Amino acid sequence: MKLPIYMDHHATTPVDPRVLEAMLPFFTERFGNAASRHHAFGWDAENAVEDARKEIARAIGAEARDIVFTSGATEADNLALRGVAEASASRGNHIITSRIEHKAVLDSAARLERSGFEVTYVPVNSEGLIDPADVRRAITDRTILISIMCANNEIGTLQPIAEIGALARERGIPFHTDAVQAIGKLPINVSTDPIDLMSMTAHKIYGPKGIGALYVRQSRPRVRLAPLIDGGGHEHGLRPGTLPVPLIVGFAKAITLAIAEMETENVRLAVLRDRLKKIITSGLDEVYVNGSETRRLPNNLNMSFAYVEGESLLMGMKDVALSSGSACTSSLVEPSYVLKAVGVGEELAHSSIRFGLGRFNTAEEVEYVGEKIVETVKRLRALSPLHELKKG
Ligand SMILES: *Cc1c(COP(=O)(O)O)cnc(C)c1O
Repeated sequence: MKLPIYMDHHATTPVDPRVLEAMLPFFTERFGNAASRHHAFGWDAENAVEDARKEIARAIGAEARDIVFTSGATEADNLALRGVAEASASRGNHIITSRIEHKAVLDSAARLERSGFEVTYVPVNSEGLIDPADVRRAITDRTILISIMCANNEIGTLQPIAEIGALARERGIPFHTDAVQAIGKLPINVSTDPIDLMSMTAHKIYGPKGIGALYVRQSRPRVRLAPLIDGGGHEHGLRPGTLPVPLIVGFAKAITLAIAEMETENVRLAVLRDRLKKIITSGLDEVYVNGSETRRLPNNLNMSFAYVEGESLLMGMKDVALSSGSACTSSLVEPSYVLKAVGVGEELAHSSIRFGLGRFNTAEEVEYVGEKIVETVKRLRALSPLHELKKG
């Protein structure tokens, strides 16, 4: 077993060697600009991009023309919210989203609020689940977009996307979903699921960083969208700029592999995740699982360890890469807004750790991480005056 161990796959993933191999020729011999219309180098690059576009579309049940390449999911989320808002401003000014979306959605919504849009943030229950009835109640005649993520990146909760999308479709409102964490974990098919816009990124599915896409439904119903930037007609004018051919080729390979291996990999990861949970819960008292026990990503575990600061816990086990439930905003350390939204108290939110298992994690690594957590929490608790007081 090699140290350090990486178990933070909601943050990013390594590039799968099979993905890298597909990408390599496009950095060197096949370096053309896909927009060069007058020579073989350009044609070759354009063919590679269009093949990749078809492959990505096929993976999610879309048409190739529905795929708009972006720099990642942050840009795709921005394009979805701000692009629809700008294109639909004459029809309304109201957007519905949730309190536990990724910052790319929340910060885009906040920007729109500053320019006169109204945003309703539907709440989540203690498991992090949205009630579709809350979405239905929030809809007005001025609603132009509903944006709810498929799977949460901190607590792994899976939202009732089909129900929410159906509500939106009934009222003729475009439905956007950030599917970053769900791709390759949940079967998603935009030809049967009522999804009109969907954000994706390659680097969470063993592809390269810096490439993602927004799925934009072009028919039945057609989504109206304005670009965020100007500069040439690439991507139907929705996202100008020279296409990063090697990254696009890698993205296509990554999504194909992730979906082909999804079923077996989901089972493997859930077994490893449950084993990790078992080691921790049988070795420690006063530990709590955040999120849903049932409606959850197979590779996600988020736990709070009473009397222990998440940051100290991570510093105490530097040979394992994990995330804590605290976020550094400038100089302040604040508890995660997702944990706050599900009702986890400030203290326990600061005591939480996110485990994100991935393709290359082994059973041996899970044993090591579980035991290391138990040992480190025990050591830190022995030093904690609060914990000593509690024990009496
Ligand atoms: C990582 C992530 C993003 C951001 O994706 P980038 O490609 O890194 O910009 C957006 N949404 C969710 C849910 C994520 O996990």
